[in-house]
Amino acid sequence: MFIYADNAATTKMSRAAIEAMTPYLTEVYGNPSSLYALGQRAKDGLEDARERIARLIGAEPREILFTSGGSEADNQAILSATAIGAKTGRRHIVSDTIEHHAVLHTLKKLEREGFEVTLVPVTPEGLVEPEAVEQAIRPDTCLVTVMTANNEIGTIQPVERIGEICRARGVLFHTDAVQAVGHLPLDVRKLNADMLSASAHKFHGPKGVGFLWARRGVALTSLIEGGAQERGKRAGTENVAGIVATAAALEEAVEGIDAVTKRLTPLRDRLIAGLSKIPHAALNGDPVRRAPSNVNFCFEGIEGEALLLLLDDRGIAASSGSACTSGSLDPSHVLLAIGRPHGVAHGSLRLSLGEDATEEQVDYMIRTVGEVVAYLRGFSPVWRDLVEGKAEFVL
Ligand SMILES: *Cc1c(COP(=O)(O)O)cnc(C)c1O
Repeated sequence: MFIYADNAATTKMSRAAIEAMTPYLTEVYGNPSSLYALGQRAKDGLEDARERIARLIGAEPREILFTSGGSEADNQAILSATAIGAKTGRRHIVSDTIEHHAVLHTLKKLEREGFEVTLVPVTPEGLVEPEAVEQAIRPDTCLVTVMTANNEIGTIQPVERIGEICRARGVLFHTDAVQAVGHLPLDVRKLNADMLSASAHKFHGPKGVGFLWARRGVALTSLIEGGAQERGKRAGTENVAGIVATAAALEEAVEGIDAVTKRLTPLRDRLIAGLSKIPHAALNGDPVRRAPSNVNFCFEGIEGEALLLLLDDRGIAASSGSACTSGSLDPSHVLLAIGRPHGVAHGSLRLSLGEDATEEQVDYMIRTVGEVVAYLRGFSPVWRDLVEGKAEFVL
């Protein structure tokens, strides 16, 4: 048995995406900036992909800028909004404590450059409250950036309401929608957003491709200087094959959203119910306002890393928190932000289901996680102290 349960980290490319990109790797290899027919065919593929992607999210083609992924799109959105703000002396940014590091580290950099950042706290379920955002906005706020769905705990944020508040206050609103695009119904006009980031490899497209949607009228700052590609806002020969594959992957993903949500939600809830039976375990994130694929738990008295290695041995590819923090000893900033103590946050497990997950796989995961947690607790000194009453259970 092999179960890939780390779809929030990355996904397998779809057959449709591979088939769409292949001609652009083999026959249509021209540079889209070249004037001869081979180049123009590549350009046609590129612009066709832009139109299809725009249509899928309710945008105009000229509002889509292709990037190397979600991280670059986040960086460019934030640095563009703050460049606009700085022109009129507005140097304050509002965000929250559970954003992806592509957002948080960009904000840290801006702080070193003299910007002020307010990170609003989240509820214990990981929700960003619109009222908290509203209260944090000041006359010198130039940007609010709040993600659409969290990559670790799956919480879906009230972005439409937050966007409404930003619009009323005349503040630019960006949302990191990397976990939402292709997974949740989404229309950029209804979001009341000005900018949105997406990444192809999170919806069965290739790695290293993403896009930034920026509402017409929002002046983007270029992060990469060079040629005049992407209306002069992103130099470098376009990743034509990757972009064409992104359009194919997104088309398939968007078409399947309703059916996949219907199929995955009961499987997710079955997995949550099963894992909840493990003693001293707790679900992280909101039980209802939650991505249909996301399950995230804390188990008291164990180390997440050991759990992952043993699960790997038993055919389950999972993650603790995010792929970006594994390898570091710091517990997830998201779990700390929702109030999990350090020790408990270390014992976390994220299972993110693929669209093809089955009940049999879910039951195997429930059984195996239960066994591995019990096994690890068997020789955990932390667990022994808890059982002997020398330390207190939190969960
Ligand atoms: C994966 C992810 C990113 C980064 O996207 P890349 O394409 O890997 O750079 C940013 N934000 C969120 C919420 C993500 O899940």
